[in-house]
Amino acid sequence: MFDKFHEECGVFAIYGHPEAAKLTYLGLYALQHRGQESAGICTSDGTEVHCVKSMGHVAEIFTPLVIDTLPGEQAIGHTRYSTAGDTALLNAQPFSVACNKGRIAVAHNGNITNASELRRDLERQGSIFQSNSDTEVILHLVAHSRERTLSGALRDALLQLDGAFSLVFLAEDRVIVARDPRGFRPLAAGQMEFSGGRIAHVFASETCAFDLIGAVYLNEVEPGEMIIVGPEGVTRERYAPEQSRAQCVFEHVYFSRPDSIVFERSVQQSREMLGRLLAREAPADADLVVPVPDSGVAAAIGFAAESGLPFRHGLIRNHYVGRTFIEPSQVIRDFGVKLKLNPVRHLLEGKRVVLVDDSIVRGTTSRKIVRMVRQAGAREVHLRISCPPTVSPCFYGVDTPTKNELIGANNTVEEIRRFVEADSLAYLSLASLRKAVSDDRRHEYCYACYTGDYPTELVNIEELMAAKKRG
Ligand code: AMP
Repeated sequence: MFDKFHEECGVFAIYGHPEAAKLTYLGLYALQHRGQESAGICTSDGTEVHCVKSMGHVAEIFTPLVIDTLPGEQAIGHTRYSTAGDTALLNAQPFSVACNKGRIAVAHNGNITNASELRRDLERQGSIFQSNSDTEVILHLVAHSRERTLSGALRDALLQLDGAFSLVFLAEDRVIVARDPRGFRPLAAGQMEFSGGRIAHVFASETCAFDLIGAVYLNEVEPGEMIIVGPEGVTRERYAPEQSRAQCVFEHVYFSRPDSIVFERSVQQSREMLGRLLAREAPADADLVVPVPDSGVAAAIGFAAESGLPFRHGLIRNHYVGRTFIEPSQVIRDFGVKLKLNPVRHLLEGKRVVLVDDSIVRGTTSRKIVRMVRQAGAREVHLRISCPPTVSPCFYGVDTPTKNELIGANNTVEEIRRFVEADSLAYLSLASLRKAVSDDRRHEYCYACYTGDYPTELVNIEELMAAKKRG
């Protein structure tokens, strides 16, 4: 039984570079937006695997002294998302074990939806689990496999998994990466040339990690593909039969950085198109387009370009909000939102404002922001959301709450408008969302959070729902 989902994460891997730990640190630094709760790096020097993981941000954990304790030319790394309640170091990744296949470590982005069943079977056979994370199941399946090679055992293990997984593995002398057959979560492959023309192989959740270390993006790890990089070279193989894809559309709507290429497509380009199509579907008679930073910026640029209205930064975000701030002893209204955002009265006073954001989840933050813009003098606030209403929880690795808490699941658009106190509210249609991300036969997306139509069978849906609730 799993206490909770580990939700959104970033993964990174490198093979064949003398500064593997340092480059992994930089890669994780670029992927920090994918997870701020904990981070970890495991390296291998050919004979031994070394690991450091801790709660906190990448730059806090990996000081030069700590990086010096991670020798070797191959490494994997992980950043894990902060979710309420569970902050156990026990669940921080990578997981590392010594088993009959040698010493292996793994880092995972996604959710394995049949993890509870697999875990029950494994426990019946004597496995002892150290964490309540679904990722540990993979290592036990590898250890139980009758296959003698690590790649054979991995193939065996991966074929038993349902759901979403972009995985990076580290063994004594190799790095192996794999993606689930539907390709829910991204995983990019690249390489970097260094001293004397040597080539290092790199893998990351998003290509922004490659940009920072000067690596070039080559292509995606294909859904259902496993790539093995070892002393013998690079082997790419399909371990699972081809299935229709279910790429997470929310990566393009909100989660990935706009400077990344995700699912072979520029995130910035998708977001601007979301904004353009939103302006066509739901124009507003207004004076200004203002984004909710940072999530609404790219869509607001598209909205402004399409509508011909001026784009202005009417809300300023403080980027340095940490987890340790001194809260006021007296109750200050809307303190949390004020800490993060402040309106520019000079821009907003007397204006009819189109406020653009990527999504409304519970509605509470959006209501505070609408109030903030109005209190700063805006005459009208027209809220525009660059995707359809979020109506169903995600079981594939995005941190959405249960259906009960999703305002879009239980209210009409007009009811939501009244709740958030906007003069008008419009969401983008599903058809336009598909168009903006260029959904086609090669690149099909998962829209389950907007449709409730899950692309895989969820055999234990009640258990998955209960885990969400605890999350
Ligand atoms: P609320 O109005 O309380 O539903 O909050 C909406 C805000 O939450 C928007 O600015 C979104 O960008 C942001 N948001 C949407 N989905 C997520 C997510 N999975 N994790 C964190 N923030 C999110």
